[in-house]
Amino acid sequence: MAHDHPHDHDHDHSEIGPMDLRVRALETVLAQKGYIDPAALDALIDTYQTRIGPCNGARVVAKAWVDPAYRRWLLEDATAAIASLGYSGRQGEHMVVVENTPERHHMVVCTLCSCYPWPVLGLPPTWYKSAPYRSRAVRDPRGVLADFGVTLPAGTEIRVWDSTAEVRYLVLPMRPAGTEALGEEALAALVTRDSMIGTGLPRQP
Ligand code: FE
Repeated sequence: MAHDHPHDHDHDHSEIGPMDLRVRALETVLAQKGYIDPAALDALIDTYQTRIGPCNGARVVAKAWVDPAYRRWLLEDATAAIASLGYSGRQGEHMVVVENTPERHHMVVCTLCSCYPWPVLGLPPTWYKSAPYRSRAVRDPRGVLADFGVTLPAGTEIRVWDSTAEVRYLVLPMRPAGTEALGEEALAALVTRDSMIGTGLPRQP
């Protein structure tokens, strides 16, 4: 987060960086040699950008909010509980769900690269992959939260989880007050992507 907008706006990322150039060059060579099919690659990216996304994770969270047995299962065996809703596959093979409480707030980062639970959140936003987020989330989580407009009570402990190729974390945010009358679908609409990474809170009804 070298600039004032921690969110994944693209306005100042229009130039192609050296890493993107290398990726494109590699992709071109692999396609020319017939090792990869560009159409298959496009289909894969389209799937994760449009079909699979935070709406999946939001359904998991909403179900946990209304169904205590599902919530317990989710906290004990997230991979199975999430798969029971039909969300499984690559980058989500070993899921762990961490639950926010008034005493403890969880935040997820991948300090090494960009490990992220694709089946429930889709592809990671640009800021999640950025070096500033990856280093500062660990050093100064409260400052990072402030950049995202989140201020927690001073007494709330912040715990940062480092996602890896083996384990991907999903935050179970606290159910907003005043939502007792809402059904699962209406609740899911309150669950933002960032609230499941821990850099945001659910919308208020
Ligand atoms: Fe990673």
